[in-house]
Amino acid sequence: MSDTSERIARDFFSRDPEEQQDLLQNTWCNKCQEVDLGMVNPVEYEFMERIFIDGECAKCGEVTTTEIVYEDENDLGNE
Ligand SMILES: [Zn+2]
Repeated sequence: MSDTSERIARDFFSRDPEEQQDLLQNTWCNKCQEVDLGMVNPVEYEFMERIFIDGECAKCGEVTTTEIVYEDENDLGNE
């Protein structure tokens, strides 16, 4: 199978507790139209070679999706 549009489950809870906290706090809710409301019940997965976390808005329960973007610390002259 060469289908890459498949979700691959990952274990959110294997991350550092601090990182988990961070990721759970830095959210955007489409329904509340507010950042950093927090989310609960996180589910991490890989999709199209990118990593996402689905969770429920801590305020309204709407499902929010956060993409995890790692900053490149070895960035050389890249704007
Ligand atoms: Zn919300």
